[in-house]
Amino acid sequence: MKKLQRIAVFTSGGDAPGMNAAIRAVTRAAINNGLEVLGICQGYKGMIEDNFIPLNSQHVSGIIQKGGTILQTARSKEFREYEGREKAYRNLREHQVDAVVVIGGDGSFSGANEMSAEFDIPFVGIPGTIDNDLYGTDYTIGFDTALNTVVEAVDKIRDTASSHNRIFFVEVMGREAGFVAINSGIACGAEVIMIPEEANQIDKARSFLKERARNNKSSIILVAEGIEEGGAYEVAEILTPEFPQFEIRVSILGHIQRGGSPSAKDRVIASRMGAAAVEALMDQQKSIMIGLVNDEIVHVPLNKAIKMHKPVSKSLIQLAESIATFGPPK
Ligand code: ATP
Repeated sequence: MKKLQRIAVFTSGGDAPGMNAAIRAVTRAAINNGLEVLGICQGYKGMIEDNFIPLNSQHVSGIIQKGGTILQTARSKEFREYEGREKAYRNLREHQVDAVVVIGGDGSFSGANEMSAEFDIPFVGIPGTIDNDLYGTDYTIGFDTALNTVVEAVDKIRDTASSHNRIFFVEVMGREAGFVAINSGIACGAEVIMIPEEANQIDKARSFLKERARNNKSSIILVAEGIEEGGAYEVAEILTPEFPQFEIRVSILGHIQRGGSPSAKDRVIASRMGAAAVEALMDQQKSIMIGLVNDEIVHVPLNKAIKMHKPVSKSLIQLAESIATFGPPK
């Protein structure tokens, strides 16, 4: 492999709080190791459209506390085709980029994996997504901040729920994964947590509402967006006619879960992963994702991170049920 002189960094897919801390760490670690750094704006779209900017230490100062991504992110159909990736490769060559750090989710890593198989350019991935759904790492950047946002929002919803004695179905993000739902549900004391990994979640909510009919208290039912019934509106539509005695409301937390200043934990994780990505490239590593397992940095082959499924911890599911109002569903 050619001696490393210049690297590029970009963010791709959905934005997540802490991406800026990762950009900053990659830039600073690279410069402090004698490398030059370019930022690619708007992900693979910018790679194809030649949207490159130089990054120095000052460019990334004052961004660690900012949500979103200063490099912006995008989704690119063109990059899914060989011709798009060829254009992107030509631009990387034009800018004399020797290696690339991609901050994103499994889609972004699939693109990186494909491109490095077709062309002579090494990629290292940093997991950045609020969903925490990537295999090979305990945490992805943005997850902790999103959890805190959800907990703060649900605490507020609980104030109004208890004042009116209402039942709230609150929908949280996570796509096909229940990491945000199970963790935030435990943290805010949700009475029921509905996750996509388990079947018959509607029965869990139904049996809770039957039990609840005997007393008269407000409740929070947390619904992960990817459950088989659809989402919080669909669940409420099924259950409202069955329980006419209850005042049922729906709240979709939506995009507020992606925004905001990153938590201290996300900033530290992003900084560690950013520096580790540069170190890996300097060690001539390629096609790996930087992960964090038991608080240690690990290297995970990109194709493993993409293809393998990360399960939600059974012990967390059992914990949620063991401390629920009426215990595990009967
Ligand atoms: P998030 O988890 O937040 O959605 P992501 O990285 O999974 O992030 P995607 O939209 O799936 O987000 O992927 C980002 C971009 O990566 C796509 O717009 C596309 O350009 C590229 N990409 C995704 N999958 C592939 C693939 N199989 N081949 C080539 N490029 C891909």
